[in-house]
Amino acid sequence: MTWSTTWIAPTTGWNARRPAVGLTFLGAAGEVTGSCYLVDAGVTRFLMECGLFQGGRAAAARNRRFAFDPRSIDFVLLSHAHIDHSGLLPRLAAQGFAGPVYATGATCDLLGVMLPDSGHLQEREAEREGKAPLYTVADATRCLSRLVPVDYGVEHKPHPSVRCTFRDAGHILGSAILDLRVGSTSLVFSGDLGQPGHPIVHDPEPVESADVLLVESTYGNRSHKSLVQTLDEFAYALNDTLASRKGNVVIPAFAVGRTQDVLYFIAKLRREGRIGASDVYVDSPMATAATRITLGRRIVDGAKTVRIFGEPVPVRAKIFTIGGLSAHADRPALFGWLGHFKRPPRQTWVVHGEPLAAQSLRDALRRRRWRAGVPARLQAVALQ
Ligand SMILES: [Zn+2]
Repeated sequence: MTWSTTWIAPTTGWNARRPAVGLTFLGAAGEVTGSCYLVDAGVTRFLMECGLFQGGRAAAARNRRFAFDPRSIDFVLLSHAHIDHSGLLPRLAAQGFAGPVYATGATCDLLGVMLPDSGHLQEREAEREGKAPLYTVADATRCLSRLVPVDYGVEHKPHPSVRCTFRDAGHILGSAILDLRVGSTSLVFSGDLGQPGHPIVHDPEPVESADVLLVESTYGNRSHKSLVQTLDEFAYALNDTLASRKGNVVIPAFAVGRTQDVLYFIAKLRREGRIGASDVYVDSPMATAATRITLGRRIVDGAKTVRIFGEPVPVRAKIFTIGGLSAHADRPALFGWLGHFKRPPRQTWVVHGEPLAAQSLRDALRRRRWRAGVPARLQAVALQ
């Protein structure tokens, strides 16, 4: 097998340098948002993921322009509902994509709430900034008709030359690992992998072989604290604020995923008598908005003032960062999942991670004699 690598300039679109049967990294390459991988199988062309880029002007510009013709895509395979994996589906459909979007039933149900909510946020943002929205609630609602629910563990044939099995990724409700065969090549995409041992979702399902593997690396260079330590920290933070300071606790969390875990842990701590009774409010639209303007990170990084919907707000809160509540596998858990492969894939691409995290995981894989690389955005590679 010969590996060829080409880069596609965003302004030139598809050209002769693109491998006939290949994979192009359109997002979540050296970063954690905008997940999108285009598979060109000669007789068919499809996307894995169609995620929104998040964070700043560069992300906003990338969201406006696809690096391919949406009408040329036959179908989309979606690992889970998080907006950085699904959030450009309404724009894809509005710009001419007319095929099915395959996802688990739970993912389809979540998208029924999340995509119109995202459309609402796009409309509000556009209104504030005086420009056309990326898409509207109506676009998002229309694109829901493209969703086709599939079951875990059942092989589907979205095209005669493509077979696909969705396996449980244990990240959020409905999340999946995509286990594909494209022509004669087996291609596995980890999606976002969950941390084993968490409540509500299962542990990630093992996969034993692949010719080509795409593995996420959000925490490729970090270990979470144990669940016991995490709950100790969480109980301390709640008691310190609610009992000692008579204050309120605000917990920014992904609206889907971590919010459910946080509620579960609050109930558990209360049942065990480790925290007192208190009112708990879930403000889901706020959680989504907070996520979009990754606000939590700036506060954690020590910002004295932040802007919320354009208004400067001084930060007077005491900040606790409790990393063990993440819905993403940490480095040991990633290696636990990778350890199920009976032999190294012919090629592993480390995706969905900031450069340091992705490079750290890549280097550790190379030390184990895996052929691993971190792709650049718009890089195209052969699949055969
Ligand atoms: Zn996710």
